[in-house]
Amino acid sequence: MQYISTRGKAPRLDFDDVVLSGLARDGGLYVPDTWPTLTPDALASLAGASYPQLAATVLAPFAAPSVDEETLLAIAEDAYRDFDHPDIAPLRPLSDGIWLLELFHGPTLAFKDYALQVLGRLFDHILKRRNQRITIVGATSGDTGSAAIEACRDRDAIEIFILHPKGRVSEVQRRQMTTVTSANVHNIAVEGTFDDCQDLVKAMFADEAFRDAYRLSAVNSINWARIAAQVAYYVHAFVSLGRMGRAVSFAVPTGNFGNVYAAYVAGRMGVNLHRLIVASNRNDILTRFLATGRMEIGPVHATLSPSMDIQVSSNFERYYFEMVGRDADAVASAMQRFRQTGSFSATAPALTWALAQLSGERLTDDETRDTLRSLYDETGELFDPHTAIGIAAARRHRSEDDRPVIALATAHPAKFPDAVEAATGVRPELPPRLADLFDRPERCTALPAQLDRIQAHIRASIASFEDESAIT
Ligand SMILES: *Cc1c(COP(=O)(O)O)cnc(C)c1O
Repeated sequence: MQYISTRGKAPRLDFDDVVLSGLARDGGLYVPDTWPTLTPDALASLAGASYPQLAATVLAPFAAPSVDEETLLAIAEDAYRDFDHPDIAPLRPLSDGIWLLELFHGPTLAFKDYALQVLGRLFDHILKRRNQRITIVGATSGDTGSAAIEACRDRDAIEIFILHPKGRVSEVQRRQMTTVTSANVHNIAVEGTFDDCQDLVKAMFADEAFRDAYRLSAVNSINWARIAAQVAYYVHAFVSLGRMGRAVSFAVPTGNFGNVYAAYVAGRMGVNLHRLIVASNRNDILTRFLATGRMEIGPVHATLSPSMDIQVSSNFERYYFEMVGRDADAVASAMQRFRQTGSFSATAPALTWALAQLSGERLTDDETRDTLRSLYDETGELFDPHTAIGIAAARRHRSEDDRPVIALATAHPAKFPDAVEAATGVRPELPPRLADLFDRPERCTALPAQLDRIQAHIRASIASFEDESAIT
């Protein structure tokens, strides 16, 4: 598979290089130049496959010829070995016509483990073959960071620096990052918002001398391999539902749009999609875009669902590329306008194309609390606030459409215990693997949201890196 940039001015790359480089040099995002498909028979035959087998089958066409299916299977088996549910991503009925896809059975209790456990091993595999080392730099609004750190900790070929907005992630999220004291793990608490963190990471990638000297790479949701690994659970959910000929909708609690975009890719590969419900919190830039065709940045609001407290959904650019019929110049000029003025508008045909597939829903914190409480009253179960937003969006949608909706449970309730307890009166317990989280020592460096300060810290932390990689 060859990959092209959404902005059309970066070299085509193969899978290995796309995995290692993350963002394209022209500021765009890499996408496959053609869509591989699974025939209905191939999809049906996946119904009996183990989750790692299914994941290897889904990843294979994206990784060919760089990484073969046998290697992908070994990577997937290892990646999902420690998940705490035998189905890895269990699908179960929730209430009338609504199904829940549980994606919190990995080491950090959020769906990002499903892709990152694979990505960490893919990096290792590719780097070992090339005898190289890399520096992973990422921004997190909470969950990506811990999932990335868990995926990369103690891997010889990787140094990892994760920027999180100081004081704006939950204590559990922070501790899941800062209590990993492996020598190759570096946590930075940035005095700013998640968007500041994301801008700093983008600026480091834009600094070519720095990027090349430290072989910067990304594991945030712009990395293609993450998207590809996420496609697997959509395929898994679709075949598990066992209604091959019939279309299904997904309700996705959305921040950076990576998860919704992976659902779109699953559709391109052959999953029979009806609608994708883009569920947002008060940070409703996507809801407003779908209502008006105008993408307009606003202030970031802190909510009960902090992993969705995002205004600029970076993966949306990949979807926009499809909205405009893969016209890279149109993407580049829209993104430039967005960067300069804080807004851009889709053309009427592009918006019509998107609305044929996407529905936007938005929940306030009050509505999220009400949902958590009523779900607890109805089912006796606790959900996390992000998941509750997806379920509420699925319910609104079901009131107009009787096809099945699969809502994504993107985190375990114990990851957001304060919000869950405030809404339901019940404090969710951490699962056994994290029971002693509050007793573990933390390690973290606080820095202002200034590019030069962050870069100086990275240089100082890996002073010997350039010499070493020069030898290999
Ligand atoms: C990251 C995250 C989201 C948002 O996913 P995107 O792919 O960024 O849209 C939703 N819920 C939880 C729990 C998350 O960690």
